[in-house]
Amino acid sequence: MTPLDVAANLRVVRDRIVAAGGDPARVRVVAVTKGFGPEAVEAARAAGLDDVGENYAQEMLAKRASFGDLTVHFIGRLQTNKVRLVAALVDCWQSVDRLALADEIARRAPGARILVQVNVSDEPQKGGCAPSEAGELVRRCRDLGLVVSGLMTVGRTGDPDAVRPGFALLSGLADRLGLPERSMGMTHDLEAAVTEGATMIRVGTALFGNRPPDPSRGN
Ligand SMILES: *Cc1c(COP(=O)(O)O)cnc(C)c1O
Repeated sequence: MTPLDVAANLRVVRDRIVAAGGDPARVRVVAVTKGFGPEAVEAARAAGLDDVGENYAQEMLAKRASFGDLTVHFIGRLQTNKVRLVAALVDCWQSVDRLALADEIARRAPGARILVQVNVSDEPQKGGCAPSEAGELVRRCRDLGLVVSGLMTVGRTGDPDAVRPGFALLSGLADRLGLPERSMGMTHDLEAAVTEGATMIRVGTALFGNRPPDPSRGN
């Protein structure tokens, strides 16, 4: 992976956004750098991207010097006891799906920007609160002084066509709650997300290629 490859890959991603009926100026691309070293963060910056997404606290700490003034999104499942480790690095907490986590973020990063993660596919292995709980969690997060700018979801695994109803559900929920940001869509399903109103897509593989296997993590 070279910075030139990433810049070319980003053009392909922007073409896909356009083909799905989106406006690349209004769909923010979060470069998901998990699994890669600081060179991926540098390549994203060189390609003109402003946002990176990370999933693992220890990995983030190892790469912290590369983030500079990029906007750093935490997008992975987060244990409450890891919040403290990365609080100084994270600009937007995208995977807030329960009150205990919100509480700890409010304690370690007062006034932080967050998205509430919603599980729109009812798959037990996915993070996110139930759609019916989202409104209440948004209110409780605000009571804690957090700035809730929108909702986030990970689409149903499998057929990209089967993913659209879940993305539509997230958009409808964000509309009803008056939240502008909808973070949805990854490499394999970004078209469906854009069609259903994503304001932010989180893309790793399409920019950087396949992630190197990490035996310690099983992914
Ligand atoms: C890994 C990950 C992505 C990026 O996935 P790709 O398929 O590589 O684009 C997006 N969102 C979340 C929550 C992830 O964990």
